[in-house]
Amino acid sequence: MSTICRITLKPGKEQSVMRMHPWIFSGAIKKIEGNPAEGDTVNVFSSEGAFLAMGHYQIGSIAVRIFSFQEDTPDREFWKSRLLEAYSLRKLLGLTENETTNVYRLVNGEGDGMPGLVIDYYNGIVVLQMHSIGMYRIRQLLADALNDIYSGRLTAIYDKSESTLPFKANLGAKNELVKGLATATEVKENGFRFTIDVSTGQKTGFFIDQRDNRQLLTRYVAGKNVLNMFCYTGGFSVYAMGAGAAMVHSVDSSSPAMEITDRNIELNSGNDGRHKSITTDAFGFMSNIDDAYDVIILDPPAFAKHLDALNNALMGYKRLNAKAIEQIRKGGILFTFSCSQVVSKENFRKSVFAAAANSGRHVRILHQLTQPPDHPVSIYHPEGGYLKGLVLQVE
Ligand code: SAH
Repeated sequence: MSTICRITLKPGKEQSVMRMHPWIFSGAIKKIEGNPAEGDTVNVFSSEGAFLAMGHYQIGSIAVRIFSFQEDTPDREFWKSRLLEAYSLRKLLGLTENETTNVYRLVNGEGDGMPGLVIDYYNGIVVLQMHSIGMYRIRQLLADALNDIYSGRLTAIYDKSESTLPFKANLGAKNELVKGLATATEVKENGFRFTIDVSTGQKTGFFIDQRDNRQLLTRYVAGKNVLNMFCYTGGFSVYAMGAGAAMVHSVDSSSPAMEITDRNIELNSGNDGRHKSITTDAFGFMSNIDDAYDVIILDPPAFAKHLDALNNALMGYKRLNAKAIEQIRKGGILFTFSCSQVVSKENFRKSVFAAAANSGRHVRILHQLTQPPDHPVSIYHPEGGYLKGLVLQVE
């Protein structure tokens, strides 16, 4: 086996590693010995020569993604045991053998000790999404280990890393099947049915992280008029219909998304006339709403992917929430979310606060929402907590 390259940190830069933060920024590095290739495993040492951690090396602002804080051999057995740990957690959560839900996140990057790797499970189809070159290079090993863990029950393994890997690395990564033939399936979530095509959908095919929040919505919608903004595949709409809403309007600017929404509504409730799909821009739609709604869901895309876009993102949240709070019926319920990692819980809350204050209406917080436990967050890596939501009642 080739020797592992050494990375030595500048004095003082070992602090965050000792607190088990899994990233080493390029600015923290004093010396790189042995010329590592991107994706290689490297050992990290303090300026005084003490071993700190091992991880995957990459050129860029995050230079090392740490996967172990002790000396390990990152071979097939090592990764398989990490995957098994992740699987055991989902088993503990009751997700692996569940009559009503067969879609869940199996690996959530840093939250599962596997930085740079996301794995979602869709009723027998597993989707791998690699965000680091180190993880991409062990793709086959991961696929083999997954096959073992699921004892050959997986119908397909799909690699969807084309747009999540750094394009500068020129890896020629393609979205493709690593095993099996099918990319489409039907999944169940809390008993509701959804058609999924992992090869065409956004992210890995479905927004699994809203499962618990969709379930919560069912408490508030019976007999109500519901507006689901940024509906994508219609998750919240399907739940609202199932829970007896009087009418549900789903809005998204993407026509493929609206087609999937229509299909999912049909699959669960048939076409009973309570649901309407509207393909249009959310900002335009919200600026002048025609109908009166009792329940509004606002689940926009990550407006800010980087810190420099933060202010614009906060303005966007404020505008949307202001329109919803101004126009919702008396006593109405607003489910409002942000999935931008760079928007903190406090910042999001301030934007919604500012929107509420402008409206002059009384607003109270009923629930403070986040991502479900199959999207765990390492306590040492708070950046992993990206989904924030508030359920508000507007007097
Ligand atoms: N609520 C969804 C996930 C939303 S993802 C769920 O539960 O699955 C964000 C969605 O916003 C995407 O489907 C995207 O097409 C849509 N979108 C992005 N910009 C938009 C805009 N300006 N107006 C309307 N929809 C938009």
